[in-house]
Amino acid sequence: MAVNHKIFDLVIIGGGINGVGIAYDAAQRGLSVLLCESGDLAGATSSASSKLIHGGLRYLEQYQFSLVRKALLEREVLKDIAPHIVWPMRFCLPHQKYLRSPWLIRLGLYFYDHLAKSSFEKSKSVVFANASPLQDSFATGFEYSDAWVDDARLVIVNALAAQACGATILTRTQCLNAKVMQLAKHPEPMWQLMLQSQTESFSVVGKAVINAAGPWVNQVLDQVFAASSPYQVRYIKGSHIVVPRIHQQDKAYILQNSDRRIVFVLPFQDNFSLIGTTDVEQTQLEDIKISVDEIHYLLDVVNDHFKQQLSPADIIHSYSGVRPLFEIKQSSVNNRAQDLSRDYAIFSHAKINTPPLLSIYGGKVTTYRKLAQQAVDCLIRTFEDLPPSQTHKLPLPGGDISSRQQLFQQLSTTYPFLPTDLVTRYSRSYGSLAFNFLQNAQNLRDLGEDFGHGLLQKEVDYLLQDEWAQTAEDILWRRTKLGLYFTQQQQDNLQAYISNLKTAG
Ligand SMILES: Cc1cc2nc3c(=O)[nH]c(=O)nc-3n(C[C@H](O)[C@H](O)[C@H](O)COP(=O)(O)OP(=O)(O)OC[C@H]3O[C@@H](n4cnc5c(N)ncnc54)[C@H](O)[C@@H]3O)c2cc1C
Repeated sequence: MAVNHKIFDLVIIGGGINGVGIAYDAAQRGLSVLLCESGDLAGATSSASSKLIHGGLRYLEQYQFSLVRKALLEREVLKDIAPHIVWPMRFCLPHQKYLRSPWLIRLGLYFYDHLAKSSFEKSKSVVFANASPLQDSFATGFEYSDAWVDDARLVIVNALAAQACGATILTRTQCLNAKVMQLAKHPEPMWQLMLQSQTESFSVVGKAVINAAGPWVNQVLDQVFAASSPYQVRYIKGSHIVVPRIHQQDKAYILQNSDRRIVFVLPFQDNFSLIGTTDVEQTQLEDIKISVDEIHYLLDVVNDHFKQQLSPADIIHSYSGVRPLFEIKQSSVNNRAQDLSRDYAIFSHAKINTPPLLSIYGGKVTTYRKLAQQAVDCLIRTFEDLPPSQTHKLPLPGGDISSRQQLFQQLSTTYPFLPTDLVTRYSRSYGSLAFNFLQNAQNLRDLGEDFGHGLLQKEVDYLLQDEWAQTAEDILWRRTKLGLYFTQQQQDNLQAYISNLKTAG
């Protein structure tokens, strides 16, 4: 392994959005960085979110104004640096008289519009016409703006950006243990980390380590570093279901349930509606999947609001993730999951004669960039000449476009043989990265075998070579969402192609 014993400024454990965001920020500021991820990039929480870049309207009810403001500011930044995978979306909030008064919602939306300088369309009251997909009992409501994100691709483009700045990204490589070591000729102590890939174990050396293991943060602290933390992590499972599109509008719905929770119904991949989420406390992190109760909970909320009625047979796909919500250990208050903060904390395990070790707690996809910047800022005493972060103004890979519409035009003109739905998918999954695999193609045949639903060989080869994909699942569920369409036979064919390439290579 080329990195065996190499000294890195910073080693990051975890390839979710927070880990790759930190890798990019640190590498962009000139640090030598290695990131290890035990599975696939975005293989855990960061591909299981509701896929919203949002301030979090409901956090206003909990008076979390600074979190909402921070998130709204980031919404603006992410829309600009990743316009291919982050875009504004209108949200419709049907009014339920018995839950919240209209003036309270109006006040909340006023704050939402004005807490941070925003280019998003402002909120307004709405009256539902007969053509509304909602049941007739919903006469009025509100509309406001937030943004949609392809969460898994946001992880990939941050990893690409980190790599472009010199970072080493190792997937399917688990960090097993760490110890403090003192190297001859180096006055300061360092971390020696033992890593395990699919084929070998090897060690790397880091001047500092950041534990960005998401829900596994305390497990890594305990098992890798034999360290403890002041925070206790509560595992709150959230599940989503995907059904054939239940209305034709391009807006999302935010439904208020009688338990005062909210459920989103989001337009998803043109032909589907994404419905979530739940809040179910878990005691362990294995075998996280949707339960029958969660399915009924989500379907009941939708059926209470929409004219179209759904049953479990309509569900095409479901996924679940775990929010690692943290609270101070031995807190005497028994908080409800929905009341725990969605903000993040960066904890420094500073000890004399021990190199820096930081642990990341909580957070949201929306605030990952700010979190990354603050985490790297925490290392300023170790790396004194660290320049300020620039990630707020640099387009992420594929995001150097003036708009998705402009890119759509450019792709259609350069590759007139591409079907419209393919150009649409390329523009909103890859942005300008699409040129990396389309290259000089003159016709569809130049793009190779069709594995089904427009997944062509050149795209697959690009994902395997440049985006760390290693299995059909990596491609079908994280790099793309084509898993929604693929039959088992088509998945097997794709996996066979990948396995043959690996054997040949
Ligand atoms: C149901 C749900 C809905 C959500 N919706 C939204 C939303 O709409 N908008 C929003 O902004 N946020 C949302 N969030 C929050 C957001 O998804 C998380 O804050 C974010 O994904 C956390 O990223 P992470 O990098 O900390 O964790 P993860 O993505 O879980 O990454 C941690 C990684 O560490 C790896 N790892 C663990 N141990 C080791 C080890 N020893 N060695 C190497 N690697 C290791 C794991 O394999 C994992 O990939 C949602 C969360 C959930 C659960």
